[in-house]
Formats: sequence, structure tokens, C-alpha cells
Amino acid sequence: TDPACIASAPPRVPFSFELYPPKTDAGATALHATIDRLAAAGPEFISVTYGANGSSRGSSLEVLKYILHETHVDPMAHLTCVGSSHAEASALIREFLDAGVHSFLALRGDPPQGTREGDSFLGDLGSAAELVQLIHRVQAEKVPYRETVIPGLPRARRLRTDREKVRIGVAAFPNGHPQSRSTSQDIDTLLAKQAAGANLAITQLFFHADHYLSFIQRAREAGVEFPILPGIMPVTSPNRLRRILELSGEELPSELSIQLEIEPTDAGQREIGIDHAVRLGQELLAGGAPGLHLYAFNQHDTVLSVLEGCGALPNGRTPTPQPHPTTAPTILR
Ligand code: FAD
Repeated sequence: TDPACIASAPPRVPFSFELYPPKTDAGATALHATIDRLAAAGPEFISVTYGANGSSRGSSLEVLKYILHETHVDPMAHLTCVGSSHAEASALIREFLDAGVHSFLALRGDPPQGTREGDSFLGDLGSAAELVQLIHRVQAEKVPYRETVIPGLPRARRLRTDREKVRIGVAAFPNGHPQSRSTSQDIDTLLAKQAAGANLAITQLFFHADHYLSFIQRAREAGVEFPILPGIMPVTSPNRLRRILELSGEELPSELSIQLEIEPTDAGQREIGIDHAVRLGQELLAGGAPGLHLYAFNQHDTVLSVLEGCGALPNGRTPTPQPHPTTAPTILR
């Protein structure tokens, strides 16, 4: 290989995906095909959401096991602690560790329906920071869990012993958590998560690069040191936009909304959503984002097109599934 080519090769953009557990057997089969396609692109990790109050515990774990056993990608389990006793949360963490999952996105979770912030719905753990601490404690208790040999799983041997290298992510909210009283509370919450041992954050979706970049600046000034991955959700229809706004509490991005509303075809709307996400991704990377985290909606084609548009896919092409060499996570380096 010509060394000059190596020297001039642009640095690889780390990226990752989020999936949700399927509700039907047909959905599970389709999701396996999606995972194969996403895994072939070489993400740092694929995260799997966790249904409110543990409603998807079994199906989330099944998806994580598929990623663990059938791909070379690190599976990341979202876990929530709202409504759990200390013993229940510890047992849950142990169950995922026993299955071979060692990366987590530690979340508090939303209040159950019919309750409100302030009601006594929380359970023993009052915040995501406490869940981060508990994950570290349970991991440390498993002696020596990192040397567990799972047949056919070289990845299990690669887990490192110091607490900083275990991947525990948390949520961040560039435009504020809906219940937070001030911007400084959102930053303080992130600092509390860092103090608890989190080493990565993933943001709630947002529509303007400035919102993320100014949030990062404030977080850095306050002492937040871990990488904060921007969460990008390509919005490919007016219905999806409405649903996302309902769930996230984000403000309506009027220009994108109008474009989607006046475009009559599904294909045209999809293009608009991809173009918007590509522009956002490019601005974020130019502004120094450490990578891109894509909400995939259990489909591969849209998010791979976004990465392609951002120049994040090797050779600029959409990859086909094939075995590929494992790489150490770059986000934590
Ligand atoms: P926390 O960080 O604990 O914060 C919750 C609220 O408490 C905030 O208002 C915060 O400001 C406040 N707070 C926290 N700590 C303190 C403190 N020390 N002092 C004062 N106030 C404090 N939900 C699911 O059910 N399943 C999922 O899989 C899931 N995945 C998600 C993935 C991402 C990337 C994101 C951004 C969110 C996800 N959520 C998920 C939603 C999340 O559970 C909700 O946003 C929930 O309301 C808050 O969770 P949190 O981890 O941010 O909680």
C-alpha cells in the first residue's frame, strides 16, 4: 500500500444505530435482516431500546443476543430504572451481563401513564445517575466477569477491567429535558452522570446543528468531558414528524415541516428527510461532533443513505452484509 494514500485517507467517522424490539415474529425476522445490513456498515455499536417499565425486557434481550452472536458489533442495552426496587434493578443488570451484554445506556425512564413528575413513581433509584452507579457496582461484583469465556465469542475476552473502559452511556438533552427547570439543570444532571461513572452520552433528537453545538460548548465549560453523540432522526413523512414532536416535546422545525407537507409523494418526502439529516450530520461533524448516532426505525436503507451523504461510509457505498474484522471502539479512545 502506498503510504501517501494512508496519510491522506480522511479519518473514519464513528457512527452507531438505535433499534427498538419488534412486536411480532414477522417483525423479528425482518429486524434480523436489518441488523445484518447495519452491521455490515461497521458501526461502533447498535443500541436497543427498553420498553417503559420493562415491558420489552425479553424482546430487547433477544435483539441484543442476535447482535452479539450473529454480528461483530457491540450491542448496547438501554435500561430504565423507574419504578424498580434496588433488588429488581440489580437482577435486571445481572441478567443482561449474564447474557454477554456489557454496554448500557442508563436511563431513568418516563413516569408510568397516569402519574406525573413529582408523584412517587420513581422506585428506589431516583435518577439515571444512580442507575449508572448500580451498573458499575453489579459489574464489579461479577468476579471476574470479564474473563467469562462464552463459546464462539472472542468479544467477551476483549472487555477491559478498568471502570472507564466499560461503556455506560446516558441521555443528554440539547434543548432541555421536558421536566428540567433550567438549562443549567440539564448540564448539572450530565455532570452527575459523569461523576457516577458514565463515559458517553447520546442526545435526544434535535433539528438544528446550533442547538447541539451550543449545548456542547456549555457542557464542556461546565466540566463534562465524555463524548456526547448527536442523535439524528431522519424524518421521512409528516406523520412521523408529528409523532416525534409529540414524544420528544421538541419544537416544530417549520421549514422541514412545510417541505414535507407540500410534497405529495412518499419517495419525495423520504428524499426531503434524508437531505435534511445529511445537512444536519455534515454541520455537526464540521462543528466537531465525535460521531453520529442514527435512530434507524428498524430499517437500514434510510440511515445508510444519510451516512453515505455525510461521507461516513467506507468507499461511499451502501455495504452488503459480509463478515468483517472487528475494530476496537474508537469513541472511547
Ligand atoms: P435523568 O437524567 O435521571 O433525568 C430526569 C429528570 O430529572 C430531568 O428533568 C433531570 O433534569 C432531573 N434530574 C436528574 N438528576 C437530577 C438531580 N441530581 N437533581 C435534580 N434533578 C435531576 N426511555 C425509555 O423508556 N426507554 C428507552 O429505551 C429510552 N431510550 C432513550 C434514548 C435516548 C438517547 C434518550 C435521549 C432518551 C431515551 N428514553 C428512553 C427517554 C428517557 O427515559 C426519558 O427522557 C426520561 O424522562 C428521563 O430519563 P433520563 O435518563 O434522562 O433521566
